[in-house]
Amino acid sequence: MKPQLSIVVPMYNESANIGSFYERVTRVLEGTGYSYEIICVNDGSRDNTLELLKELRRKDTRVKIIDLSRNFGKEVAMTAGLDFAAGEAVIPIDADLQDPPELIPQLIDKWQEGYDVVYATRLRREGESGLKKLTAHLFYRLIRRLTPIDIPADTGDFRLMSRQVVDALRLLRERHRFMKGLFSWVGFSQAGVPYLRDPRHAGRSKFNYWKLWNFAIEGITSFSFLPLQVFTYLGFFIASAAFLFALYLIGDKFINGNPVPGYPSLMVTILFFGGIQLITLGVIGEYIGRIYNESKRRPLYLVRDAIGFDYQSARWNRREV
Ligand code: UDP
Ligand code: MG
Repeated sequence: MKPQLSIVVPMYNESANIGSFYERVTRVLEGTGYSYEIICVNDGSRDNTLELLKELRRKDTRVKIIDLSRNFGKEVAMTAGLDFAAGEAVIPIDADLQDPPELIPQLIDKWQEGYDVVYATRLRREGESGLKKLTAHLFYRLIRRLTPIDIPADTGDFRLMSRQVVDALRLLRERHRFMKGLFSWVGFSQAGVPYLRDPRHAGRSKFNYWKLWNFAIEGITSFSFLPLQVFTYLGFFIASAAFLFALYLIGDKFINGNPVPGYPSLMVTILFFGGIQLITLGVIGEYIGRIYNESKRRPLYLVRDAIGFDYQSARWNRREV
């Protein structure tokens, strides 16, 4: 029997959270009256996450485990979970209880009203520094400006998606997966439910500012050519300015008889243009690197073991990843 709900949980070194996560989620899900499965994706954890998951599964067969061959990152781990999920509605959620499972009944209610995607929107972030909040705020605004798709602000991956939406998402096999963007790209009818984001239950966040920065670049390059176009216009602007400056210099020399100013202006110009050209090359490089990565068409992830997916064995055997 296929379950009605699939909960998808990417897990990387989450042994300190698994127990309380399982309890809270189970309590909520039991209350909804729907049948469900909890798909835990072990994303190459170095602690005993996998052992704890297997222990859980011995008690409760609704817990299913996908063990990836190494750490592939949260976005890919979540994709693996979505690929294996069989439910009529699928809910990705973090293992660290920052996404309150208690919100799930509200997500389900909206889904029952007929929405295909019901996302949870953060009203407030607890236990996160002012700088993290500021950068997150700027990030969402920037992405909204730069990309043509409408990504709701302050929305993470915590959401409910109908089977139709999950099937649509499964068609998008790009390696550079900016999930928030992909979620919006597929469209369908979407609604938001506000909530208060809790601090991490235990352990440390795996994200740092360098990762966030790269995440932002990923988001922008995945959905926008604007960084490339900016330099086209900048190039035009600088070339025009240079032309006018040249006219001025020639006039100054031949009409006023002033000597052409020398070394300092030359140095400034050369360094300035050198810098601009390197930046432009860098931006082009960001895109070329992504083209290179996509063109290799490697599988998104490799599964070492998938436990509890008997009815999907056909999909699993075809290694459709
Ligand atoms: N995660 C993962 N693979 C990774 C990093 C994180 O599967 O390489 C999982 C992690 O176990 C958690 C979720 O992704 O369930 C969110 O991670 P984290 O709490 O570190 O991110 P933050 O909440 O700071 O954005
Ligand atoms: Mg977290």
